[in-house]
Amino acid sequence: MEAKPNPSDQLWALNLVDGIWEVGQGRTGGFPTERRAHVAGVGSLVFLAANQSQVDRAVTGVIAAQRAWQQVGAWGRSDSLKRAATKLRASATALAEVLMAEVGKTNSEALGEIENAARLLEFHAGSALRSMGRSFPTSRPRTQVATARLPLGTIACITPWNFPVNLACVKIAPALATGNGIVLKPSPEASVSTTRFVECIRDCLPSGLIALVHGDGDVGSLLVRHPRINGVTFTGSSAVGRKVAVAATSRGIPVQCEMGGSNSIAVMASADLDEAAVAVSNSAFLMAGQKCTAARKVLVHEQVANELVARIVSRLDAGQFAVGSPGNADTVVGPVISDQSSRRARQAVENVMAAGATLIWPKNGLAPVQPSESTLVQPTLLRSPDTSARAIHEEIFGPVLIVVPVTSVDHAIAVSNLGEYGLVSAIYTADLREAMTFTEQVQAGTVLVNQPTTGLDFNVPFGGWGDSAFGLPEQSDSALEAFTKVQTRYVTWPAGGRIE
Ligand code: NAD
Repeated sequence: MEAKPNPSDQLWALNLVDGIWEVGQGRTGGFPTERRAHVAGVGSLVFLAANQSQVDRAVTGVIAAQRAWQQVGAWGRSDSLKRAATKLRASATALAEVLMAEVGKTNSEALGEIENAARLLEFHAGSALRSMGRSFPTSRPRTQVATARLPLGTIACITPWNFPVNLACVKIAPALATGNGIVLKPSPEASVSTTRFVECIRDCLPSGLIALVHGDGDVGSLLVRHPRINGVTFTGSSAVGRKVAVAATSRGIPVQCEMGGSNSIAVMASADLDEAAVAVSNSAFLMAGQKCTAARKVLVHEQVANELVARIVSRLDAGQFAVGSPGNADTVVGPVISDQSSRRARQAVENVMAAGATLIWPKNGLAPVQPSESTLVQPTLLRSPDTSARAIHEEIFGPVLIVVPVTSVDHAIAVSNLGEYGLVSAIYTADLREAMTFTEQVQAGTVLVNQPTTGLDFNVPFGGWGDSAFGLPEQSDSALEAFTKVQTRYVTWPAGGRIE
């Protein structure tokens, strides 16, 4: 790694500004100086927040590099993205170790994330070559009227910790394909993973085209408000996303926010209960329930509620969601991101119980949290007779599933539509009427029939409704739209030309 070491051994501050790894020069706001990541093979890293001057120079450096990138042309941009995908795959083993150590993914989750990210880079290597313009008939003689889509310029990409590599690629791959430059600000909780990722791909791109600035919300806010940032893409919580959307729209720049969710799966009486039990429990518990697409509620028809619960409990009893350290080969469910997150999940479970829910699993009740295991949260299964309690519609970022009996598909739709979120909903049923009624009436940006809510495809649009998103969806064509602006061109050529 080329960064200059701090005076004290092994302390590195890795802001990538204008093509150079820079030592941080101070703090902005509350970014913890104690943001230390002890990562096997990496050592101890300390990330200092980028200061105003570094943010300014990061943006200015990207602006210069972006102008050249736009001139590189589509073929060159496509080749660079293909090379980045190859490089990322070649680094997958080492990068997976970092993801495991820093954000607690199991090895297969980490490798899966990196492979998905590589596919996104490849997919958008193809996007770079696609036509995005249209031409129009006109009454004007010797005139062509057409639209072209041009890059916005320099994009602020603000990412959460739960998919540091994949969500960075969801944003930077289409932004780069369409000719933009990037200033990336990751979550403080994924500083190492994001630094390693940027280090891995940056040689495939012109120097300075991607800048990386570390820090907390203050640095994110500096970027969104920066007068030379031309567009913002954010993924994270709804509370922060709303602030980002307000700040960006008040500057009149395009902004895309993917935010929180509290997703439900309806299971009707005609459903294949074996399939539904696997889908529901995997969606709720894998990756410690920390996917934005995780299922939080199962809205099960009361006629089959006991049968479905028995199947989920039998998976839990069989150790199919064994909790433990990510490095342990038996671990299926790794730790949650932090002590604070663990406390929040625990509090959320207590709130659901205070609203009348009963605890089904763990069978011996909620164990006291041991300090040494403070980020390990047991999969928790609850049954709530109350469909409208606020607590069951909140986002819980942990391995928690709430069984909510319902009496019909209409009832399931009504319960699913409570609360402010609208990210993903699914239904398990063999009845076409139920499937299509649910699909048409449920308030969610993605709806699945007989499919789990998690593990969605990278090449189709992904966006939420309500409090789950703001602006255009991510991925696929809509991502290309989000990072470009339309220019309408009238081109008239001189009279007198001759057709041979
Ligand atoms: P978060 O909102 O706390 O932080 C997200 C990012 O925003 C971080 O980089 C953070 O430093 C930055 N930030 C904080 N305040 C800011 C401000 N005022 N201005 C600019 N940037 C600011 O989210 P998190 O805890 O990192 O991630 C978990 C959340 O992300 C959950 O709510 C989850 O549902 C959501 N998420 C959504 C999707 C999706 O596609 N809808 C995907 C993954 C995660």
